[in-house]
Amino acid sequence: SRKYLIAGNWKMNKTASDGVDLINGIINEVGDQNEVGVAVCPPYTALESAAEVLSNVNNIQLGAQNMHFEPEGAYTGEISATMLRTLYVNFVILGHSERREYFSECDDLVNRKVLAALESNLKPILCVGETLEQREDGDTLSVVSKQVDGGLKDVAADKADQVVIAYEPVWAIGTGKTATPEMAQEVHASIRKILVDRFDETIAQKIRIIYGGSMKPANADELLAQKDIDGGLIGGASLEAKSFGKLVASA
Ligand code: 13P
Repeated sequence: SRKYLIAGNWKMNKTASDGVDLINGIINEVGDQNEVGVAVCPPYTALESAAEVLSNVNNIQLGAQNMHFEPEGAYTGEISATMLRTLYVNFVILGHSERREYFSECDDLVNRKVLAALESNLKPILCVGETLEQREDGDTLSVVSKQVDGGLKDVAADKADQVVIAYEPVWAIGTGKTATPEMAQEVHASIRKILVDRFDETIAQKIRIIYGGSMKPANADELLAQKDIDGGLIGGASLEAKSFGKLVASA
């Protein structure tokens, strides 16, 4: 069965030294449990110091929030998978709705990043999710399926279980509005079905599909109890060691 993943997306928060404090707090809260996969995704500038703190911790992994698809070159301001690997980064969030919205990332670009991440043995956390308008228009499943298929184009079957899908309804991100467990489960089950069609049943059962969007200790139990919800991608509640620790305990 699938190992839950609770991943903290710090977004553009925490300096390197504040990040070290937060990680030390998280290490304390998480203790030595190993049933749930735990990852923190600080901004690039805090990765190196985070890697140092985590160097002798084996139950908390490091993730980045984005990367370029080329290994190196004239791409001012960008960071490659190779660079992330030198900092012991294991996961990379790709296609987050904030990147799609504010930096015009499309499925094609996200797909190139997914392929490059897998090539470098980074586990992509591929984010998908509909806007409020798309949900109200009844387009949720078509939007999500286009993003899943687009993001996973050309991904080889033997690497597919390295991918994590994060379903993050855009209207639930940072708004305090959470999808009900039933609403989330419905979409997660559809994503699982897309993965069965795209790969096969065995592979689809191995791929983790995590939920994101105002997940916090008060609503996590119900969400995580759903059959196809395999963890969470946490924004706001990951910036505080106690609440993040509680989410790990809920999983
Ligand atoms: P919040 O938990 O702050 O709603 O953010 C969710 C998110 O975007 C995680 O990637």
